[in-house]
Amino acid sequence: MNHSIWAIVPAAGIGKRMLSSIPKQYLLLNDRPVLEYTVNALLDNKNVSGLIIALQPDDVYWPQINITSNKPVLRTVGGDERADSVLNAIEKLYQHEDFDAESDWVMVHDAVRPCIRQQDINKLVADVATDENGGLLALPVRDTMKRQKADAAQAMVEQTVDRENLWHALTPQYFHADRLKTALQSAKKDNRVITDESSAMEMAGFSPRLVQGHEDNIKITRPDDLRLASLYLLARDGQANDDLTQAGNNP
Ligand code: C5P
Repeated sequence: MNHSIWAIVPAAGIGKRMLSSIPKQYLLLNDRPVLEYTVNALLDNKNVSGLIIALQPDDVYWPQINITSNKPVLRTVGGDERADSVLNAIEKLYQHEDFDAESDWVMVHDAVRPCIRQQDINKLVADVATDENGGLLALPVRDTMKRQKADAAQAMVEQTVDRENLWHALTPQYFHADRLKTALQSAKKDNRVITDESSAMEMAGFSPRLVQGHEDNIKITRPDDLRLASLYLLARDGQANDDLTQAGNNP
């Protein structure tokens, strides 16, 4: 690979659905802040050269995060929307001496997806390779999907939506940095609503690749999600310990 990959973590959300005074990326997961898992997972990945994080201007928690890597970690302030936070991060990256706007790529990952697997990051990078469309981790929809009536007092089904070809968009989302910057700027100029980086690229005429990830790459949104993430991580540690024990028993 002859380009660098920079991880971008938008972490400037306040997480209203969590019913907590602490932003959800700083809630504790098995005694460590959620964001600590996320940032270290990205920095530990062999494809990633460095990371930039977008924080709220008055964030007091970030200095408590224990980073275990020596790769560069930059910070910037987030914006009103997630897309503004990502755009700020890309613009900050342009000021970094090791960043090459012609060739470098960015991998945007939610601060609140701490269970991302190394194998999924590697698969995303390998499958997208240098495709100008970029790509994202995603999961095919398994349940039957319903659209609710817009104007009913209670939630009522208007219709069943065909789940064929429907996917859940996850992160990381992986694009050539300069193409994503242009796409985000033009979406912003047109006042388009952007909930992920892929939508900005789609509006710019690209068709990002859907790379199938794993179910455990959950987004911590509600209090119950913390318990589920904790179970996923503990199960993974248990698996790692089993593998070590087995390796020890099999010289
Ligand atoms: O609110 P939501 O769950 O969509 O947030 C997804 C990610 O975007 C989180 O990591 C959150 O911190 C981040 N975000 C941000 N700036 C905002 C809003 C959300 O960095 N203005």
